[in-house]
Amino acid sequence: MNQTSELLRTVFGFDSFRPGQEAIVDAVNAGEDVLAIMPTGGGKSLCFQLPALCRDGVTVVISPLIALMRDQVRALREAGVEAGSLTSGNTEEETEEVFQALDEGRLKLLYMAPERLANGGAVQLLRRINVTLLAVDEAHCVSQWGHDFRPDYLKIGALRKQLGNIQIAAFTATADAETRFEIGKRLFDGESPTTFLEGFDRPNISLSFQPKDQPRRQLTEFVAARKGQSGIVYCSSRNKTEVLAQALRSEGHSALHYHAGMDGEHRRIAENRFQREDGLIVCATVAFGMGIDKPDVRFVVHADLPKSIESYYQEIGRAGRDGAPAETLTLYGADDIRLRRSQIDEGLAPADRKGADHARLNALLGLTEALECRRKTLLGYFGEDMETCGNCDLCSQAPEVFDGTDAVRKALSAILRTGEHFGVGHLTDVLLGNTTDKVRARNHDALPTFGVGKEYNRKQWQAIFRQMMGHDLIRPDVERMGGLVMTQTAWPILRGEASIDLRMDTIRKAGAAPSRREPVALVAEEDEPILSALKMKRSELAEAMRAPNYVVFPDKTLIEMATHKPMTLDDFSRLYGVGAKKLEKYGAVFLAVLNGGVEDMHPVRRKLAGKPAGDIFDQLKAAQLELASGPHGTEKPMSCNTSLLAKVAGQRPGSTEALERIIGEAKAERFGDAFLEILAQN
Ligand code: ADP
Ligand code: MG
Ligand code: ZN
Repeated sequence: MNQTSELLRTVFGFDSFRPGQEAIVDAVNAGEDVLAIMPTGGGKSLCFQLPALCRDGVTVVISPLIALMRDQVRALREAGVEAGSLTSGNTEEETEEVFQALDEGRLKLLYMAPERLANGGAVQLLRRINVTLLAVDEAHCVSQWGHDFRPDYLKIGALRKQLGNIQIAAFTATADAETRFEIGKRLFDGESPTTFLEGFDRPNISLSFQPKDQPRRQLTEFVAARKGQSGIVYCSSRNKTEVLAQALRSEGHSALHYHAGMDGEHRRIAENRFQREDGLIVCATVAFGMGIDKPDVRFVVHADLPKSIESYYQEIGRAGRDGAPAETLTLYGADDIRLRRSQIDEGLAPADRKGADHARLNALLGLTEALECRRKTLLGYFGEDMETCGNCDLCSQAPEVFDGTDAVRKALSAILRTGEHFGVGHLTDVLLGNTTDKVRARNHDALPTFGVGKEYNRKQWQAIFRQMMGHDLIRPDVERMGGLVMTQTAWPILRGEASIDLRMDTIRKAGAAPSRREPVALVAEEDEPILSALKMKRSELAEAMRAPNYVVFPDKTLIEMATHKPMTLDDFSRLYGVGAKKLEKYGAVFLAVLNGGVEDMHPVRRKLAGKPAGDIFDQLKAAQLELASGPHGTEKPMSCNTSLLAKVAGQRPGSTEALERIIGEAKAERFGDAFLEILAQN
């Protein structure tokens, strides 16, 4: 095993690298300047944490959020890594400790808030402590155009120069070319770093969409089926976050609201509680974002349609970072589409930017009305090909479609003949032949389209109009008070040159109860009590440290515990996220929950648990037992003590002479052949 995979296993407790990690780690270890773009939850932190352990000196990590920094430092310390942070949130004691570790040359990772860089002392400090790598997390914060812009990030470029063009590794999940260009310019002084653009798939996140139909009920049913899980519910308005949080609380969930209108302190409290508590739901606007690093968010619901396909992907990406199953549900309706369109039209951006924003919204709408695998459509937009995923609502149930050409033509005709001035309500009246006041006042009952759409009811026409908006055949026009106008895309259909399939399910379901998706089970039903018991133990331990639960173990580790039911420390060491330090600290405690006790194990042997040497040790011991009185059981009993056996297992002597040097001549004569054979086979 090479050094990096060994550290991956022993420090972090992971069996293998996630896609892209190894190449990035290798490049950083080779001293290259690196820009890595990986999806949220892809495992970016490891790409600078691991190299930090492989080199001399200190790796300085610049990260935008103090709370997250502190949690990352906690998590690293739990894994036995010397890490510390210098932020305004430090107590004097903590700062003192960091400086001491720096002075003693122990510290491997130093997290710093960007504000700190403004301080003149920073450069001097960094010069003094032998910084060998600058890791910039959330590197898109240098971009003035993004909503995460942090002015202090602009100082990093200069800092790098002052430190003699020190090696720099930057990480972000934001992939668009504009941001990438800006990162290059500001952090790398225009030189191009070795760039990694990793695949965007997050296969453990299931995707599903539902047209709104009693949306409050759709939400509460979804959440009720997932009681006790941590989740985020994104809403399009501040008010709605408060209303929905209240609604969820009244159904017995633990729920909070979050939006940018709250004062800093209340936001911080909400962020902290979410990060720390099990099973809390936060109803939030998109302001709830970067501050969340929680690996075990089990679901993300969009109670309203997101702004674009990019925002959608970023927001759902906050679910399931730990790799365990996570679920998403997006609710959308014609009103959402209108809202999003008018937000773009009414914005202050220049015309070409608005055009691009409409296109990004269209991509999302295409996803809502997709006829085959959602993920295929989604990743296709990001330039990735894939077969169907098996983990989206359309894969689990293919939608029924019907030829909607005729219905669409009727709707278009109603729009055109009424002068492209009206919304869905009035247009539907025209199609259904309802003589309302408005119809009469405008003489729309005299139109040839009047009453030609009676084969569908009002709800069904709404679904048809919504799908037409989804296919960008029609758009609301701000200048006409939101009246629907036809787009160029619709011409071929109107002229009879193209046909269009619409989804039957949404039409049929209009008025019927929304389909319910069974929540994914994290463990088998019979293992649920044990999972709860493990969670309780975890909370207890985390609380004692005043750290988030996942700092002890993420959900995924507990799920594996409940499923595999390890009996021994060896078994335990093979679980996800169990490195040497955590094995030692928590192994016995959790085994006690699982088995009501731990096997009696010699402390020397316990040190080897989970390592190859542990296995060898056991084999040596078995061989020794067999040969204790010689091959025929007739000689004077003889044995090596535990420490000697551990030494043999650890040093793996390859010859009789080498073995003799460890256990002595007499014992080598008795056990030598057997031991050497075992060592040769392992
Ligand atoms: P990002 O910063 O890219 O969003 P993180 O660095 O926070 O992602 O990692 C997300 C989660 O994945 C963390 O819980 C981390 O422990 C876990 N993780 C990272 N690398 C691996 C790996 N190789 N195997 C298993 N889990 C991993
Ligand atoms: Mg990160
Ligand atoms: Zn699919």
